[in-house]
Amino acid sequence: MRNFGVKLLLCAALLVASSSPVPAQRSFSGAAEIEQSLYKLNELGTILHIAAHPDDERTAVLAYFARGRHMRTAYLSLTRGEGGQNLIGSEQGAQLGMIRTQELLAARQIDGAEQFFTRAIDFGFTRTADETLQKWGHDRILSDVVWVIRRYRPDVILLGFSGTPRDGHGQHQTSAILGKEAFTAAADPKMFPEQLKYVQVWQAKRLVQAAGFGGFGLATGGRGGRGGAAPAPAGMVPPVPEAENGPEADTGSFNPILGYSYEELAVLSRSMHHSQGTGAMRRPGAGRATFTIIGGPPATKDLFEGIDTTWNRLPGGAAVKAILDQALRSYAPAHPEQVIPALVQARPLIAAIADPLAKVKLAELDETIAECAGLFVEAQARQYDAAPGTPVNLTATVLNRSNAKVSLQGARVEGIWNQDAATKPAMLGYNQSAEVAFHLTVPANQAYTQPYWLVKPATADVYRVDDQNLIGLPDTPPAAQVRVRLIVDGAAIELVRPVHHRYADRAQGERVRPFIVVPAVAVNLPEPVALFPDATARKVQISVEANVADAKGALRLEVPAGWKAEPPSQDFEIASSGEERVMTFEVTPPAGETTATLHAIAKVNGRDIESGLHVIAYPHIPPQTLFPPSDVKLVRANIKVTAKKVGYIMGAGDEMPDSLRQLGLDVTLLSQSDLEQGDLSRFDAIVAGVRAYNVRADIRANQSRLLDYVKNGGTYVVQYQTGDSPDPTAPRGQQQPPNPFNQQQTAPVTTNLGPYPFAVPGGNKYRITVEEAPLKFPNQDSPLLQYPNHINPKDFEGWVQERGVYFAVQWDKRYQTVLSTQDPGEPPMEGGQIWTRYGKGVYIFTAYSWFRQLPAGVPGAYRLFANLLSAK
Ligand SMILES: [Zn+2]
Repeated sequence: MRNFGVKLLLCAALLVASSSPVPAQRSFSGAAEIEQSLYKLNELGTILHIAAHPDDERTAVLAYFARGRHMRTAYLSLTRGEGGQNLIGSEQGAQLGMIRTQELLAARQIDGAEQFFTRAIDFGFTRTADETLQKWGHDRILSDVVWVIRRYRPDVILLGFSGTPRDGHGQHQTSAILGKEAFTAAADPKMFPEQLKYVQVWQAKRLVQAAGFGGFGLATGGRGGRGGAAPAPAGMVPPVPEAENGPEADTGSFNPILGYSYEELAVLSRSMHHSQGTGAMRRPGAGRATFTIIGGPPATKDLFEGIDTTWNRLPGGAAVKAILDQALRSYAPAHPEQVIPALVQARPLIAAIADPLAKVKLAELDETIAECAGLFVEAQARQYDAAPGTPVNLTATVLNRSNAKVSLQGARVEGIWNQDAATKPAMLGYNQSAEVAFHLTVPANQAYTQPYWLVKPATADVYRVDDQNLIGLPDTPPAAQVRVRLIVDGAAIELVRPVHHRYADRAQGERVRPFIVVPAVAVNLPEPVALFPDATARKVQISVEANVADAKGALRLEVPAGWKAEPPSQDFEIASSGEERVMTFEVTPPAGETTATLHAIAKVNGRDIESGLHVIAYPHIPPQTLFPPSDVKLVRANIKVTAKKVGYIMGAGDEMPDSLRQLGLDVTLLSQSDLEQGDLSRFDAIVAGVRAYNVRADIRANQSRLLDYVKNGGTYVVQYQTGDSPDPTAPRGQQQPPNPFNQQQTAPVTTNLGPYPFAVPGGNKYRITVEEAPLKFPNQDSPLLQYPNHINPKDFEGWVQERGVYFAVQWDKRYQTVLSTQDPGEPPMEGGQIWTRYGKGVYIFTAYSWFRQLPAGVPGAYRLFANLLSAK
């Protein structure tokens, strides 16, 4: 299996998630991989990089230390990037965090580093560290950073930011503030003593800061000091000047074994962040990263100056070093099996060293022996999922593809089950395999394979994780893994493989899914929010989908006092797995305005099932399954809307059409042909989805038809668009848009979004990040505030994440403003919503975050948006 690059990419998450020490992920195979492994075995330096988000990391620096210096290298991202915008789909929040987690793991596969997280949730852009620390809780996240340091035991800690307002984003500042504190705290036994049950205190030797901004660093030589580097944002404080004669890393140097420079690897790695649009071209050529020492002894050339990173640092290590030096000297790419005897000789010496690092190296050694022997080892499940109480057949396979003497001694399944297989030792000749079969049953009360950080509901902006040993892990440990015991050329080694399901997709070729435990039925909610614009009862549908054959049970609804659900329970019987039943209930709201939660519970075989099942599938990451709670948010709010038929131009992906249907509107998604030749006049209002102008050429091409629709009496509502869409006048081949999320562009970019000019800039400056930011009405009599709903300040309560993004900064005087708002310490902005009459109709540009508020069931946001649709 090691030779299947694609396959390895797919199971990276699982390898890393294993609770026992695991080798770093691999994306190279064959000789390149083996040579990397041999060098890595003989290198004991460790570096930990700390920043706040997926894509903050200095990828070229990670690649340089992991792939070039063969060191244990890791990136600790405080968050999973939940608060960003999703460029590839409609997932927000925790689901976006799951996508970004997998993207980081895919990136690490290329640059060779490992990945960690804290429990902190990215709550969106903020300008201050104070707001960040107040939301996360200083001690809680500090304890996580300390925990990762104590467990990973880095020699050097590399901060991506300075910990000052110069960093811009408050979460960036916080990553450096906590990193600095943790450098000392990890070594202090009085700090977080509860962790010392599992780990020892640890003093890193050196604390350093990367020059420039995370992801926006200075290039000091060649064309970019770090992966994805862009110039420092204009209008912000320039980065710290680099230390004269400070240590450096030659990230532009070419690695002939891998065939790339570290700058090139960095671009390949960063290009895995599909949801952030960081795809870029490789940059062969010079590159250099520079650092400032902020803790520990000074250094002038190298971050590891004065630190012994050889085996000599461990008692008894000198003998290991001598053997491994010799193995490297004698390594012949076409005959890797020839170094096995040396590795076998080193094994007992390493096993005898009582040091956590030696344990890590021992697991690496066993994997390297397996690589040199060309061993194929896998744990295959007959299907990728199973429900509690159902049988599972697993097969562990070991194939010897060399002339090494390999014998299979035994196999044990761990995780859900912990049992040895009844195996007899078997010698494996060249290209001979042995299989071990397990016939198992999933225990009736087995927990489902939920991402570990989503098992309990999050408290405010921090995930709740009760098991200390899970904290920091990038991914959920596999539901099951198989540990095989082998003797290779006389050495007893152990290899651990997660249980997966490998199969052929006729279009895509080989695919792999992790084995997971799922509920017997999933209680899915077609609508996560049920809106009651008046006091009449309405139907709420719940779908029960079977994951087993002959699923029998009852679905009951729980609603709080004042609400009524009829009937209270319905029986179901579903013959085959994959089939679903949709059940309809009538829910009656109370007369007055209120919100509540409807909880749907299916009882099957005596077990209550209170979750749905949702799969996030994209080609660049393994499929991700989660079990969201089976709750419907009930919103009883008086909302009037005069529009009936609405056309929706979907952009980058949002949940707005379903939200608008909650208002009883007839919503049609508009295709290219609708825009080109459809009868637009049949719609009372047309809405452009978020970033529709950035991702759809057909909307730009038909702008004059859309404006004619307005002229003839239509209402056109355009939601936020980024200010740096491709320039349609650029020559063919040069139309690649700049990354919409870099902060390069603060100069207004005029867009032709409306009948009269207005300017929408990119970057973080023209947005309102505080979701409680106060609102003022500069034009109190504006119809958008008065009709058909009378808007008052209460309508701005209970918003989530932010007020809005990418506000307009300049507009033609024929536009009127409606709302004024400001972030703390910032000037007020009125460009979040501008509108004008044009011909007989109305044009509205609105950069408020309706795409977050409506799906979250915020009543005031519904009222405000209903007014936009009703504008005449
Ligand atoms: Zn960031």
